[in-house]
Amino acid sequence: MDIWEAQHLDINDPMKEYRDYFDIPENLQYLDGNSLGVVSRGVAQRVESVIQHQWKKDLIGSWNKHQWIDAPERIGNRIAPIIGAAKDTVTVSDTLSLNVVKALSAALNMRPERTVILSDTGNFPSDLHMMQGLIRTLGKPYVLKLVKPEDIETSIDETIATVVLTHVDYRSGRIHDMPSITQKTHQAGAISVWDLAHSAGALPLDLGALCVDFAIGCTYKYLNGGPGSPGFIYVRPDLINEIWPLLSGWLGHDKPFSFDLDYIPATGIRRMRVGTPPVIAMAALDAALDVWDNVDMRQVRKKSVELSELFIAEVEAKCGNYDIELLSPRESTMRGSHVSFRAQQGYAILRALAAENVVSDFRAPNVMRFGFTPLYTRFSDVVIAVEKLYGILRERRWDRQEYKQVSGVT
Ligand SMILES: *Cc1c(COP(=O)(O)O)cnc(C)c1O
Repeated sequence: MDIWEAQHLDINDPMKEYRDYFDIPENLQYLDGNSLGVVSRGVAQRVESVIQHQWKKDLIGSWNKHQWIDAPERIGNRIAPIIGAAKDTVTVSDTLSLNVVKALSAALNMRPERTVILSDTGNFPSDLHMMQGLIRTLGKPYVLKLVKPEDIETSIDETIATVVLTHVDYRSGRIHDMPSITQKTHQAGAISVWDLAHSAGALPLDLGALCVDFAIGCTYKYLNGGPGSPGFIYVRPDLINEIWPLLSGWLGHDKPFSFDLDYIPATGIRRMRVGTPPVIAMAALDAALDVWDNVDMRQVRKKSVELSELFIAEVEAKCGNYDIELLSPRESTMRGSHVSFRAQQGYAILRALAAENVVSDFRAPNVMRFGFTPLYTRFSDVVIAVEKLYGILRERRWDRQEYKQVSGVT
């Protein structure tokens, strides 16, 4: 496809006006919104206003006057429709990694007679490490059973306490069959925990209809909450008041300001909170969520598939003679909103691309990962990115010492 055709697609794109919500540097092809979303235009002003009109002026009184104290559930209720969750089932707190422990420990408590946690070898290391950490503390007989992603369904049996999976594989973009796995989990009497890091804001979800027990996710990827913006946790409505939180911090207490010596969990999803909410980060996230109020997730998914399919077709047509190979599933229904290619020199190639204003990211050992964020990625971004990739491969512009030096964050 040439650039004119791509621009024609942009002009006729029914989602094109969403890009105006964001402040994106010109002449940049940003294909990394699956890792860190871009800045929304409303964010700086909202944060400034919280500082100037709330923190500075009303100081500690702001917890009541400006309802800072309710921000986690108020913002949770803005995320809920994006993930197909009912009102008052989501709260925003802590990091996604910590929410793994919160969900897992609650799930294990619900099945005290079972000791096996099932996950897969494609899961994100932090999720696995958090599970391993909890198991070390709990001691024997708890075990983490890791199987290949394709073997999950056949590994669910009545020894399993909980199945903890990341819905969209961070590396390949492969989607787990959430309806079928959740159903099998429940048939075996186990608890389902889904990590939505690469799903929330990327594809339609329906946690409520699937009776998912727990879900967790982050807000700095497709939801554009900003670097390190707090994570979220969802609990099935009829389970919320049954859970005894492992991380029983004072703000998840029924009456934090009665300063009881004993912990009594709050009624409702608030019990999944731990400590003081990061108000400024919450304000940035709140502003970033404004754009989502009118978004139809089916439309997001449709454009995501179109962008990804165009990318794969263009890369294979133009760069097929070079040493790169599609790692993601070819079938679009099996793929989330990012596409990965394997390349021996992947790291250096991506550094060369970044030097030409195409930003994507690298996942060890050899994966080049390209994220498509339908609210702001244009068809022309895809075509320009592939054109540059082709030039870099053809002229070996990646073959420079400085591009092979791996930096701390990839
Ligand atoms: C991005 C990501 C994380 C990151 O966790 P943080 O605690 O927010 O740093 C964890 N798990 C998965 C699957 C991810 O994609």
